[in-house]
Parts: sequence; C-alpha cells; structure tokens
Amino acid sequence: MPTMTYDPDNIFAKILRGEIPATKVYEDDETLAFMDIMPRADGHLLVIPKTPCRNLLDASPDQLATVMQAVQKLSHAVMKAFGAEGVTIQQFNEAAGGQEVFHLHFHVLPRREGDRLRPPGQMGDMEVIAGHAEQIRAALA
Ligand code: 5GP
Repeated sequence: MPTMTYDPDNIFAKILRGEIPATKVYEDDETLAFMDIMPRADGHLLVIPKTPCRNLLDASPDQLATVMQAVQKLSHAVMKAFGAEGVTIQQFNEAAGGQEVFHLHFHVLPRREGDRLRPPGQMGDMEVIAGHAEQIRAALA
C-alpha cells in the first residue's frame, strides 16, 4: 500500500510557491487556475486549491467547495473564450486512478460537438498556450 500523505515537493506545490513558472489565468484567496503544459484541448487548464491535499480522497469540505466554485467559473470562461458548446471536467485519484501529480486538481477542457481530446503526454507549444491563456483572461474580465 503506498503512503497517502501530501508531498510538499510535488510540481503544483512548487508552482504555488513560485519556485517553477506557470501560465496563470485566475487566482483568488483559495484557488489558482493555470494552463496545462500538455493540453488535450485548446484552453485545457487546471484548477487547484492553494492549501495542501493530495486529491479528492483527503480534501476537506471547504477545499472541495471552494475549488468547485472556481471550476464552475473557469468552465464558463473557457466556453466563452473558445466558443465551446460544452466542457469536460476530469479529476484523477491516486496512481491507480490515473493521477500523476499529487496535489488535488481538476482538468477543465472546453469541447465542441465532435471534438476528440488529444492524447495525453504531448507537450504543447508555450506560445500557443500563452495565447489561449490570454483569451481566457479576456473572457473572465
Ligand atoms: P493527472 O495527475 O491529472 O493525471 O495529470 C497531471 C496533469 O498535470 C497532466 O495533464 C500534465 O500535463 C500536467 N502537468 C504536469 N506537469 C506540469 C507542469 O509542470 N506544469 C503544468 N502547467 N502542468 C503540468
């Protein structure tokens, strides 16, 4: 059985501490949203709580409530920014559940009718991602 404690050196904890860069699109007291570097759709972003928890399994009711409010806000923003007709929310728990980064996060993926998600694990073009982030910020404004 793997240990299920929070590792403060996970990549998203480093992003929260400003130790590694991220293309941020939204931030409030409790949550942060930034672009996924391996986007499976144009506008693919991640929403995380600022406080530590591994995933859905150890999150507090407050963490879940605040992060879901941000997920809803960002879902509307990506749909507006990309003229999307829908949005897919993905969230994985523990390695067996598909989780790779062990700080709770929700994937927000704008979709149009017939859109297929790109395969996982393909690095995006950072200039293109920066442009998409700008579209999302404008939709939030
Ligand atoms: P998951 O844990 O949900 O399976 O996958 C983690 C997600 O984080 C993947 O979609 C991956 O592309 C993304 N990711 C991994 N490392 C980084 C990083 O350093 N910066 C950003 N912005 N995203 C990352």
